[in-house]
Amino acid sequence: MDKKEILHILETTGALQNGHFLLSSGLHTPMYFQCAVVLQYPEYLTRFCAEILEYFQEDSDTITAVVAPAIGGIVVAQELGRQLNVRSMFAERENGKLTLRRGFTLSPEDVVLIAEDVITTGGSVQELIQLVESTGAFIVGVGCIVDRSGGKNLFDVPMYSVYSTRAVTYNPEKCPLCDQGIPLVYPGSKELLADQ
Ligand SMILES: [Zn+2]
Repeated sequence: MDKKEILHILETTGALQNGHFLLSSGLHTPMYFQCAVVLQYPEYLTRFCAEILEYFQEDSDTITAVVAPAIGGIVVAQELGRQLNVRSMFAERENGKLTLRRGFTLSPEDVVLIAEDVITTGGSVQELIQLVESTGAFIVGVGCIVDRSGGKNLFDVPMYSVYSTRAVTYNPEKCPLCDQGIPLVYPGSKELLADQ
């Protein structure tokens, strides 16, 4: 997909918002992604996931499962799993630690594609990589919708993002948006913002 078209879709659906936002880290940002807003449209979810799978097409015959960290990545993993016709599962926090629950299991025979909606620091995905590796499964890579890390090599496995843009964040004490008196917005719940 053409990057201009992707940006247009993110803006017109409201997934990409400009303003003055508080992140769960306590930092302020002028640009906020609420990826769920664009992924609620099956057409866009389907197209974005098809693009991720195009990048991983050499591995697509070998992938046996798609795994996401809850919550944002779940719909991405579900659609990737649907297109590949393989299992899709998610890890969630139990006592603060990412865990496979609900009967989800991986074995050394599994070949895994990891899915996420938005990656900023990559903390949750890195934790998921360690969890998947601890089962003996092989990881072909990480596919995400939006990469806000600024194109850093975050992981030891290949990563592909549909859209990439660096996250601009400000310390609350030195925030130019606060100085301009722009009202601060608390988008979504803390849980939904876990990785931003
Ligand atoms: Zn501010």
